[in-house]
Amino acid sequence: MTHTDNFLTPIEKKLDLEGKRVSDTDFMPMRKIFDSLPSKAFKMGEDDLAEIKKLLPNIDGSRIAESEVKPANGLCGKCGRAMNLLDIVHSALKAGTHSSGFVERILSGGEGNLVIVGYQSPDDLSDKIRRKLPANTIFVKDTAPIPCKNCGVGQEVVLYMDGLMHFWVQPTKPVLRNSGLKWLSGLRKMMRRLRRR
Ligand SMILES: [Zn+2]
Repeated sequence: MTHTDNFLTPIEKKLDLEGKRVSDTDFMPMRKIFDSLPSKAFKMGEDDLAEIKKLLPNIDGSRIAESEVKPANGLCGKCGRAMNLLDIVHSALKAGTHSSGFVERILSGGEGNLVIVGYQSPDDLSDKIRRKLPANTIFVKDTAPIPCKNCGVGQEVVLYMDGLMHFWVQPTKPVLRNSGLKWLSGLRKMMRRLRRR
């Protein structure tokens, strides 16, 4: 990491991204994995894009405008918002998990290609899913679900953009056990089947 430690949050200081970069070849299949998730993908509208630029003043707007987010529940079950990259950045900065400089750097591709899985329990991801991910995938334990920026209801989301794939997997959260969660329940069924083998 080239920028000074003073601007990093405690979580960022612990992250060792140097050895976690994913090659272009290994990153390419991530697009396919993202597309295979049945939930609808959302990009930021103009209002959200304007708001994220205020949070991240040095960001390349055209790059993040292409980011896509798949919330497992689809539209927010409480307020109907289409959650996108703004919800993710907003919650990370508000909770103090990340600094704006760090987020700008990651979203600008300054750390190279990264694949990150936030989870709660080791059972959240089946071995089969893990096997599809690059060897350099970063697993972050005890990651909270992403709260909707409007109403605060958290849900599982997956972010895909050029150089970054980030899962927030939360199967243990009751809010994620709704019937609308087809791909998550499918994932759970698959995990159960694999465990029986
Ligand atoms: Zn909401």
